[in-house]
Amino acid sequence: MFKVAVAPGDGIGKEVIAEGVKVLQAACGTEHVELQLEYMDLGSDRYLRTGELLTDDDIALMKRNQAVYFGAIGDPRVAPGILEKGILIKMRTTFDQYINMRPSKAWHPYTPLKGEKNFDIIFLRENTEDFYMGAGGVLKGRSDAVDLELKRKLYDIDLTLSSSSTSADDYAFEIGMMSRRGIERFADYSFELAKKMGRPKVTAVDKANVCTSLYGMWREVFSQKSKEHGIPVEYMYVDAMAMALVRAPERFGIVACPNMFGDILTDIGAEIMGGLGVAASGNINPNGVSMFEPVHGSAPDIAGQGKANPIAAILAGKMMIDQLGRPDIGKLIEWAVKMAMKQKMVTPDMGGALTTKQAGDAIVDLVRSAQ
Ligand code: ATP
Repeated sequence: MFKVAVAPGDGIGKEVIAEGVKVLQAACGTEHVELQLEYMDLGSDRYLRTGELLTDDDIALMKRNQAVYFGAIGDPRVAPGILEKGILIKMRTTFDQYINMRPSKAWHPYTPLKGEKNFDIIFLRENTEDFYMGAGGVLKGRSDAVDLELKRKLYDIDLTLSSSSTSADDYAFEIGMMSRRGIERFADYSFELAKKMGRPKVTAVDKANVCTSLYGMWREVFSQKSKEHGIPVEYMYVDAMAMALVRAPERFGIVACPNMFGDILTDIGAEIMGGLGVAASGNINPNGVSMFEPVHGSAPDIAGQGKANPIAAILAGKMMIDQLGRPDIGKLIEWAVKMAMKQKMVTPDMGGALTTKQAGDAIVDLVRSAQ
């Protein structure tokens, strides 16, 4: 039995998660695996009603489950950033979900790349450090009038500026920092995944020729971990990687990225495989509670119209069941999605004519037909 917290959230999140749950239940049913679901009321409606974002009770509920299946949050009535920081970022931090995983594989005929390229990449993005640690601030003119907002520990950095009093002399900065421990645990996960999936190498992305200190340590750790795990590491500069992903994605398997480069490259990954409708992700703590979600947001423009493509949410469910230890059930879900695409049983964004619910039902039928 698996215990899962379900947070459909806002907009199309509610619609696509309903389909994802149906598919998960059907697929688990074929293997006689019980799925125990606990629903959560997270998102804009509750926030507008009560002012609550992610409460202690919400966290306790997630903790008593093995994973969180999440839809999307976002609402035009709420200022940007409030729900994201108060719910998503808080969840990632609370559960120390230090791996962001985003698969990118060629979904024919939806990949925009020419030819019959077959690629199957797992992007791993370090999810807690680098330039997104919040270590930023603005140095205003004179050094004695420094207005500095350091949200994390910063030691021994000389912030003295030459004396000046105009805003033309302001400096704004954002510091990229990674801890050795943070890189080590991330590299360990990357090599372990390569081993588990039978991938021959790990590609580590950086900009070590420019940010020599930060990514110098990154390379040092990846080289050491490569030896320890007995799996080769290949280094790619992020700019070369952006080109290679479009030109020859079939060259790559496990791609490990620091936080900011991973943020950008995974969007290239989503686009080359077929776009937002098929892009799924996991925020993973290998020893704790992980969260799985479609990459797309709440899409208020199409919410409530039955137009949302449920495939990204269904594939997020597949990732969750893989992570929970049943990749055989995950394979069944992926096969059913592939068949639905082949038979054009998809929503209008993929050139089909089905509603969200009809597309979900079609995949459920395919899952059951495989028995
Ligand atoms: P949010 O503010 O929650 O991020 P958004 O509309 O700014 O929402 P997305 O939800 O990521 O951003 O979507 C961008 C556009 O892509 C949407 O306006 C919608 O038209 C389209 N889209 C996103 N997800 C889907 C989907 N599952 N099915 C069909 N179209 C989608």
